[in-house]
This record gives sequence, structure tokens and C-alpha cells, in this order.
Amino acid sequence: MEFEALHHDATTRAGVLRLNERSMHTPGILWYASDRIDPPDDAVWLLSQNGDGSLSHAGSFFRPLPRQEPCIPPSFVYPDVLPGALHEQAAGWNSRQAGDIHVVSAKALDDVGDASMYVLANARELFSNPRRFVEAIVAVREAIGSQAVLYTPGLGRPADLAVLAYCTVDLADSVPLVESARQDMFLSVDGANPAGAYEVPPCRCPGCIDGEGFDGLLQHNYNAAMAEIRMIRHAIATGVFRSLVERRCQVSPHHLSVLRLLDAEHGRFQETRFPVQAGSFAATPLSLSRPDVERFRRRVLSRYRKPPSASMLLLLPCSMGKPYSRSRSHNRFHEAVGSCGNPYVVHRVVVTSPLGVVPIELDAVYPAAHYDISVTGRWSHDEQAMLSGMLERYLEQNHYDLVVQHLPNDIASFVDIDAVNTCRGHPTSGGSLDALTDMLREETAPYDSVSWQTRKREWTGALLRYQFGSAGLLDGMTVRGRYPRFRVFDSDVQMGMFVPERGLFSLTLDGACWLAGLDRYWVEIEDFVPLGSVFAVGVVDADPGIRCGDEVVVLHDGDIRGIGEASMNGAEMRESEKGEAVSVRHHV
Ligand SMILES: [Zn+2]
Repeated sequence: MEFEALHHDATTRAGVLRLNERSMHTPGILWYASDRIDPPDDAVWLLSQNGDGSLSHAGSFFRPLPRQEPCIPPSFVYPDVLPGALHEQAAGWNSRQAGDIHVVSAKALDDVGDASMYVLANARELFSNPRRFVEAIVAVREAIGSQAVLYTPGLGRPADLAVLAYCTVDLADSVPLVESARQDMFLSVDGANPAGAYEVPPCRCPGCIDGEGFDGLLQHNYNAAMAEIRMIRHAIATGVFRSLVERRCQVSPHHLSVLRLLDAEHGRFQETRFPVQAGSFAATPLSLSRPDVERFRRRVLSRYRKPPSASMLLLLPCSMGKPYSRSRSHNRFHEAVGSCGNPYVVHRVVVTSPLGVVPIELDAVYPAAHYDISVTGRWSHDEQAMLSGMLERYLEQNHYDLVVQHLPNDIASFVDIDAVNTCRGHPTSGGSLDALTDMLREETAPYDSVSWQTRKREWTGALLRYQFGSAGLLDGMTVRGRYPRFRVFDSDVQMGMFVPERGLFSLTLDGACWLAGLDRYWVEIEDFVPLGSVFAVGVVDADPGIRCGDEVVVLHDGDIRGIGEASMNGAEMRESEKGEAVSVRHHV
């Protein structure tokens, strides 16, 4: 059995699982089959029993069609509520039965072996309690590693699939689809409803159009689950999976609890798995605690520093269009600042939700250029607390002679800082913009003039520091190019360039020398020249700080072999034997 991750997004991945020349995509569903229950025509892998077709899992066989191997080993599983000592005892017995598939209890993780697939014992019992489920799944995933496939038997209703996949579950099964059809329940991503409650079924699948009774309803439940699985895989491949999960979590307080507990108590477990680039999203109240949004806020406070030549802070509201610098409202702010005569003494910083404080230099990085939020002028208590707290910490670390706030009253009313206010009603009204220009003309006059070239260099340094934690690449270099494609040169040799499509700097081989000396973002490989990709099997070691999507330097024994983009995080590079670890842009 062999698993290969193809796309990483949020906490999880979409991949392909191969066995006996058959392959199935994950996240996926194992299909229960018996004399009385037919799986869907396109089912790849079946769960079947040699017995009477009852829905018990004990002793069930898991086999790809048409061969009889391998099987889920007979297992000895105590209910989760029983003491850990009993689970340890059962785990010993289970590990002796295990081959490539291992039944694993969240209460006995000391020695889980190195199976390809793990079957979570008590998955249904655990899932009925969000806190126990989240704790179990985090502990199990940490114990079995990122490469193993995780299967939660007995779970797989359409409404559960996205949350399960977000919890790093790769395989669910069709047992609950069959059970629900038996109970005359119509399943959808919005939950379960009695089929009889609908005058006409709200679905146009073949099961609903042509099917009747149990068989029709079963076919519908199959279709609803498959459609959701495809939606999940697509969302992962396009970098919008977290948004899908936030929507699906609205189906019940139970689902919501799973996500909220993960966000509140397992931020690190999530963050290490979240890529540094992803798709655009519409922010919801849940987005405030998105691991990639929290990472942005953390990096602004820990890695970012204001431009040294800026003496005045100008706080601005966000814009609908992204990046801010390209939006109509920010063009007007830019003009108003430009008219003051000494514009680069002024540093523009945007206050927004869910990101908090966004220095203008970071407006093209992920997720600053990738979020949308409904702007109503009404800020929740959580948003107010986040914004006020972040602004306070930002100002503790970045000192300005003067703070000017050009913020509408709905923000200014709760931002408690010592600032001059230039907003007169709407921030882009003529009166507001004139007031801003007048104020800045008077305040910036005493300062020495700061050139755009100076600011451009600082701007580039801010992007480098945000990405790599260091702007050392700039030492002795010149910066050329127009916003946002700033390029760093050593005389005529290009070292790197900010690529807005990635929201990151891409380095050349010359730039890679600098990164190699940074002792961060390195991947050590066996002795070969990486022509297009470095596969995980060729990785010897990697910086655990690497996140999927990061710019990384490929090394062998101190020699630079290439530079490229990480296709998995550093921990996964070390653990995995399959899949691309680095997509190499330049090699020696
Ligand atoms: Zn249907």
C-alpha cells in the first residue's frame, strides 16, 4: 500500500492511495458491500464481510476489487471511556495482528508501529464528543505521522466529511449512508432529514429522480456523499478548504465545537500544516482564529519592523479591492499623502479584520491580498479586542513621532491610542482628504526629505523580513523594479524578486547563497543534482520551520544544489518516502 500527497491545504492534503494496481483518491470513502447492499458502480475499494451482511465492523474485510487482500486485522477494542491500562493491553494484542493496516486506540499510542494505514478505534464514540474527538485525533495524527493514511470507521455522512477531512482523516466509509437510508433519512451537507418531510426531494440525482424507497434513498445518500467528497478535494486543490470547513461547521453546534476547539487549543498542530499560500476567502467570524491569519499577525509582530525613514504613522481603513495599493480608495489616500510634499516620511498601515494591522509593504502577501470581509461599520467584540490589542503591541515595537488616524468613526471609536484624527465623516470625502493633506504638509515640513528609492529599499526589506525573518539579502545590493515586482541586484546579477502571484520572494541561485547562510529554509538531500523536483525519498533532513509553499534552498553537504518551492512542510519532508518535497526552480 502506497500513499502520495498531491495537494496540501489547511490542515490536510488530497492524495492518491495505491494498492494492487488500483488507486483511489483521498479524502475518500470505503464502500460497504454485502448480498443486500450494492456499493455505487464507481466504488474503488469495498468493505465487505463474509457473514450475513449486518453492519457490524468486527472482523470485516477491507479489500480492493476483486482480490481478497489485505484486510483490517481482527481487533480488540475497548470502549474509549474505559481506563487507559485496558487500552494498552488491547493495543499490544492489536499490534501483534497488524500488518500494513493497524487498529489504533487514542489511549495507547506508545508504540504504533509503522503501518501504512491506521484504523481509529472507537471513531464513532469519539466523534459523538467534540472535545474527546479533537484530542484523540491530534494525538493519533502526531503519533502515526503525516504520511500514514487515517481511516475512521462508521463515520462518513455528507455533513461530517469536511470536518473529518479537516481533522486529517483520509478515509471515511459508507456505513452511515446505509444506516440512514434504513432509517428513511435523507442526507445532505446540511445534515439529515426524514425523507418523508419533503413534498419533492430537494435533489436531482438519479436516485431521487428514478429511484424508489430504500434503494432510491441509498443511491441519493451515496451521491450526496460523493458530491461532497469531490467538493472537498477541489477545495483542497484550489486552496480554499478552510473556507469550506467554516461553512460546513454551521450545520450543528457539534461541528462548530470541533473547529473552535482545534483553533483554541491546537493552533500549532494546525499551523505547521497550513501552507504559506492559499486561495482567496470571504472572512467569517471563525476566520479570526484561522491558523494562517494568526500566523500573519504573529509575523507582523515578531518579524516585521517599520521603515527606519518613516517618522509618522498613518492609520487607514482597508479597501474592497486587493492589494490595497491597487484599490481606488487607497489611490486617493496615496495622492493625498503625495500632495503633502514629503510623503515618505509617512508610513501607511491598514487596520482591518481579521488580519489586524497590515503595514502597506505587506499588502501583496498572503493572506493580506486574499481576504474579503463584509463591511458594515459594525465590529464584533472579538474584532475590537483583536484590533486594539494588536495595534497596542505594534506601537510598543514600532516607534513614531506622530500617529495620524484617518479612520471612520466606527473604528476610531474603539481604537484607544494617542493620535491626531483627520477623518471628517467618510475617509475618501474631499473634506477628509484635504484635512489629511493639510495636516501632513504641516507635520512633515520639518523633516528631511525621504526619497522613493529609500522607501523602496525599505519596502523590499520588509517583505524579506516577513518571509525569511531577515533582510540580509539587501546588504550591499540595489533594488530595482516597480511595485510590487521589486528585484534585488548585486551589480547586474539578480538575486531575487518579489512575485505577487506567490505573495513571496523567489530567489535565484545567487540569492540561494544568502539563504543557505541563514540556516533557515534549507533542505538537505542525497548526492544528486535536482533537475525538476526533489522527491521526499531523496531528502535527508529539512528545517522543521519550513511550511508548504515556502522558498527553500536545496543543499548537499554544504553545497548548494538548487532553489525552489517547498511542496510539503519540513516535518513531512523528513518523514515521507513518496511525493514531491521541493519543486526546483533553478539547479546547479
Ligand atoms: Zn438525490
